[in-house]
Amino acid sequence: MIDLEGVTKHYQVGPVLVTALDGIDLHVEAGEFVVVLGPSGSGKTTTLNIIGALDTPSAGQVTVAGRDITASSRGEQQRVAIARALATGNPVLLADEPTGELDFKTGAQILELLSDQAAKDRAVLVITHNREISRMADRVVEMSSGKIISDGPPEGDKTALSELHW
Ligand code: ADP
Ligand code: MG
Repeated sequence: MIDLEGVTKHYQVGPVLVTALDGIDLHVEAGEFVVVLGPSGSGKTTTLNIIGALDTPSAGQVTVAGRDITASSRGEQQRVAIARALATGNPVLLADEPTGELDFKTGAQILELLSDQAAKDRAVLVITHNREISRMADRVVEMSSGKIISDGPPEGDKTALSELHW
């Protein structure tokens, strides 16, 4: 459903070239509930924005729901197409810190909704910097300094939401 290969993103900030993503590979299947974990500035939002076609990579290949959305001469059209596909069919659900401002109970309800969507065969990616939340995922992708430093099941394996506290 989601396939990133060698995705790099640079931002030019005045004279400084910021490397937000440094060659990441990520493959997510339909039905997977993936938490993207990492400190502030590690590249989480840039990754989701590229998957959601809100931003384009500087290098690398991006395929979402069978469409190549890597920037090209037809890049803008493709981005509009994928945005429309996501808005209507919702094969992919992306959430950037959905529980960031929420109390525990409300946050837990949001996570339950997102988890239900993965059970309906969507690919669900949720960003957090809260390690406790990552315990209820099928898979945890951990980022640091624009790289994926680990990718696998949560520590202690998948845990029921009712057992989590933050
Ligand atoms: P996270 O979501 O993990 O906090 P981001 O993806 O937002 O990280 O940012 C990764 C890096 O890229 C940071 O160093 C950030 O300052 C930089 N960055 C992100 N967006 C921009 C932008 N639009 N212009 C310049 N630098 C950016
Ligand atoms: Mg962010």
